[in-house]
Amino acid sequence: MLKELNGTSINGNGVHQNGHGHAHDSGDAMGVENRKEVRHQAIESAVRDILHNVGENPDRDGLLGTPNRVARAYDQLLGGYTVDPVKLINGAMFDVEYDEMVVVKDIEFFSMCEHHMLPFQGRAHVAYLPGKQVVGLSKIPRMVDMFARRLQIQERMTHEIAELMDEMLSPRGVAVVVEASHMCAQMRGVEKEHAYMVTSAMLGEFKTDKAQRDEFYDHLRRQATFK
Ligand SMILES: [Zn+2]
Repeated sequence: MLKELNGTSINGNGVHQNGHGHAHDSGDAMGVENRKEVRHQAIESAVRDILHNVGENPDRDGLLGTPNRVARAYDQLLGGYTVDPVKLINGAMFDVEYDEMVVVKDIEFFSMCEHHMLPFQGRAHVAYLPGKQVVGLSKIPRMVDMFARRLQIQERMTHEIAELMDEMLSPRGVAVVVEASHMCAQMRGVEKEHAYMVTSAMLGEFKTDKAQRDEFYDHLRRQATFK
């Protein structure tokens, strides 16, 4: 089940986005470093083109190191393509007799919109109703990060978090609410009402049972982070 998710959505995305197609020789440290170097050089050359074409001089002092810095920054900002969710939660699932709602809220994240490659940032709130297993608390923010550190739209990111939780834990229900501010709307001064957005994904009992949804929203309101 997990393997399938890994194969299709994680490695699949990473490989296609990078355009190299070396899906099966991971674990070869030398190869990984070489591919990273090739990727960096390609990004650097593209950033130089951008600088030149917006009217800058890529060779002036302040900009000389910029293409390389951008390439390295993307390693982190867009590092979610290469995270393996199976490894991410490895050893952190526990059999527990606990059937009450688990809520992890105010998970800060930074992502980049796929339409403009500009940041959007905010908070994710995740709840689930355990089936037979629970997951270590620290793993949920890492799952959010894995999806945030890709080119995203907020709606899809919200669903991807919920679906991964569902896939991994087979819970009775999953609820995810994401609230975020979008720089592409704020900086360009367009449609201010779209600069801040709230999205949600409800699966299982959260979808079918209003009382569960209401309890989740009560949790979010409790510390006034969610309005
Ligand atoms: Zn955008």
